[in-house]
Amino acid sequence: MSFNFDDEQACIDHLAKIRWKNGVVCPHCLSKRKIHKFSDNRRYKCADCRKQFTVRVGTIFEDSRLPLQKWFMAFHLVTSQEAGVSSLQLSKEISVTQKTAWMMLERIRRILQVNSFNKPL
Ligand SMILES: [Zn+2]
Repeated sequence: MSFNFDDEQACIDHLAKIRWKNGVVCPHCLSKRKIHKFSDNRRYKCADCRKQFTVRVGTIFEDSRLPLQKWFMAFHLVTSQEAGVSSLQLSKEISVTQKTAWMMLERIRRILQVNSFNKPL
């Protein structure tokens, strides 16, 4: 498999890079004035609303407990297979239940349609 996101942190960094091309934006108040990044490299805190967040907040990954690794692997499969990927195939590839795979495919198709990781309003 040609997937090269070896660890969860690499995936988190990758999502942050795609999502915040022009700097980190607070998903709670949309401020980008002063965002503090914690040393765990995962949490941020906004100085304006004083709320904490991770890169997943405000995205379709927010309420998912799956590691981003599995999400990115699924993305990779969906976008690299011209014939498409079935939920059964995906469930085997990334070791999740078929029900989970089905839910992932639904979300991934939606993302590809609107070209954004942001949750629909
Ligand atoms: Zn804020």
